[in-house]
Amino acid sequence: MMKYAKVVIDAVLNTNVISPADAAWDYLIPEDLSVVRGSCVVVPFGKREIDGFVLEVKEQTNVAPELLKPIHGLASDFVIKPELLDLLPQICAKFKLRAIDVLKLYIPSAIRAGKPKRNGKRRVPVSMEFSDHQVVLNQEQQHCVDTVLTQPENVYLLKGVTGSGKTEVYMHIIKKVLEMGKTALVLVPEIGLTPQVLANFKARFGDIVAMLHSKLYGGEKYDEWLRVNQGSARIVIGARSAVFAPLENLGAIIIDEEHDGSYQSDSNPRYLTHDIAIMRAKWHRCPVILGSATPSIQSFYLAEHGEYKLLELTKRVNNVPLPQIEIVDMANEIRSGNGGVFGTEVLSELLQTLRQGRSAMVFLNRRGYSQTVRCLQCGWHAKCDNCDVSMVYHKDDEQLKCHYCAARMPFPSRCPQCGSTYIKHGAMGTQKICAEIENLLSQAGIVAPVLRMDTDNTQTKGALVKILEKFANTSPSVLVGTQMIAKGHHFPQVSLVIIVNADGGFVADYRSAERTFALLTQVAGRAGREVGTAGKAYLQTYMPNHYVYKFIRNYDYLGFYQREIAARQATKYPPFSTIVRVLVSGTVDTKIIEVIKQMMQPLREYDKNQQAFIYLGAMKCPYGRLQNKFRYQILARIKQDVAKETIDYMDACIKKIEEQPIARHVKIFFEINPASLS
Ligand code: ADP
Ligand code: ZN
Ligand code: ZN
Repeated sequence: MMKYAKVVIDAVLNTNVISPADAAWDYLIPEDLSVVRGSCVVVPFGKREIDGFVLEVKEQTNVAPELLKPIHGLASDFVIKPELLDLLPQICAKFKLRAIDVLKLYIPSAIRAGKPKRNGKRRVPVSMEFSDHQVVLNQEQQHCVDTVLTQPENVYLLKGVTGSGKTEVYMHIIKKVLEMGKTALVLVPEIGLTPQVLANFKARFGDIVAMLHSKLYGGEKYDEWLRVNQGSARIVIGARSAVFAPLENLGAIIIDEEHDGSYQSDSNPRYLTHDIAIMRAKWHRCPVILGSATPSIQSFYLAEHGEYKLLELTKRVNNVPLPQIEIVDMANEIRSGNGGVFGTEVLSELLQTLRQGRSAMVFLNRRGYSQTVRCLQCGWHAKCDNCDVSMVYHKDDEQLKCHYCAARMPFPSRCPQCGSTYIKHGAMGTQKICAEIENLLSQAGIVAPVLRMDTDNTQTKGALVKILEKFANTSPSVLVGTQMIAKGHHFPQVSLVIIVNADGGFVADYRSAERTFALLTQVAGRAGREVGTAGKAYLQTYMPNHYVYKFIRNYDYLGFYQREIAARQATKYPPFSTIVRVLVSGTVDTKIIEVIKQMMQPLREYDKNQQAFIYLGAMKCPYGRLQNKFRYQILARIKQDVAKETIDYMDACIKKIEEQPIARHVKIFFEINPASLS
């Protein structure tokens, strides 16, 4: 009996003959080749040989025998798990993705390529302190664990204040899940995936823990993935893409810091981790636990409407008080003659904290030394040649760098335009703050290291661990950093947190209040996490009366949520509408504009008949050029009750355009409720 395979191939077919949208082709399976559903194969296509994935093995085909070609071989010995194949159509439909792009996430290219010859060194022994003691859960924690275990077929939103012991709840659930012979998946934000987290889980569960992470070295990534695929690793800890980890028999999926923006991918293929996790959990009939001190408005809305079940941890472990948050009016500081980085009270509190032998964290959401560099004489300002953004001065190597591409240039001693030497630094970055603090400490006669942690100095292997270790082991000390210092860290000796400029997060995005609330609550939550050190957090701002800050200071999530959800209802923003962005990029901007025009026409027509859009418009992106590619977008805000069919229609319009020759000049990205509109 002849056997045939239905194969999705890994090729972009942008001819106007064949639809690029996931054509699957039948091939003959040679008798001596073991091909099953989920196999990665090599097939002839035209004159080429390309990789493909087997969706189905069958005994009949409609292809004429003389046209049927045999599969040439296996691209990899790995086979995609049946569950992930089952979910493929659902995932593609939900996010309008091409099957091939999703299949490639299931078995990443690094894995398909086989084991690298030069084995990557084993991300450095982790010598950080970890808790391997058996913790007795408090009543609230125990209630959470019991509820999840007795009613596993639910999505839970675990809302617990910072330091309330959410991780401990996850671990107790996982322990039970393992006892039932099942596996567990723990997702954390990319930035929160620290060696400390891994060490904690390894200390508790040993070698069955695997880490899947985009920054693992080749050999290491391969080994970890293999252990998961074979079933020898039964707990996976990872960032976003680990949601596709080849675990079988899942017993629980945990998404920690569920509000974090990194769960939404902003490059292709674009998906939301929560939705994938929920699909997998439904298949396995296991719980999803979404944990956060500050749930996303979307998730809390779903919890309010019963789609998620709400669980709460209202107190810090051992009733340690939450840090007191003070709002500092920086305009007032300037009026009273203080032009420094810190408010008067803030500085004296910093010095006092250090004198008492405790440590402080200083948060600034801007890396580099200074954000803008401009000439006072002629107004020249350092802009990237490839991107519509300012270049940032980095003092370490005296360079101006673009944070969106690899462009860099030496810091000019004279203005490139007029030759003057009056070149000024604008807003400060982490590097400059460190220098300022060092100055202030030496003036006050205080000896304490000032450490910095941001993406600039944590790229090399082991760098992050070194900084964290040094900070943990040196009291007093100061840690200055970007978002990286906000997530998950637990340093008992930190009693003071300073947010240098709280206003930095307010940008033209309907979620900026939500994000500011989450980020600043998270940052403040690093202070005073153990008994004996009362924590304090200062929030420096030029908008001291902003409502978000009042809710942050009062730890009033519910108040914030109610105000925010009312505003969204009034203005028809998600969850009361769906936003779709169609991003078109390419090197020739006239081609992009042409594509946009062709897409807009049927959409306008559709709107005339259906009145589906609250807003529909096309424009240049705020970053009109990145990495030398022009960027334009169509933005649509769709009425919620017709969102699904409208999205389907938009997707069909794009597919049509992708079949035309002009599509060869552009890349089109379709995003539903995108993480960023820049
Ligand atoms: P969260 O994730 O909510 O911010 P963590 O899970 O990091 O909080 O817990 C904070 C600290 O409290 C950790 O050191 C943890 O080991 C400890 N802890 C958690 N639960 C308990 C408990 N029931 N008894 C004692 N210590 C606990
Ligand atoms: Zn650039
Ligand atoms: Zn000049």
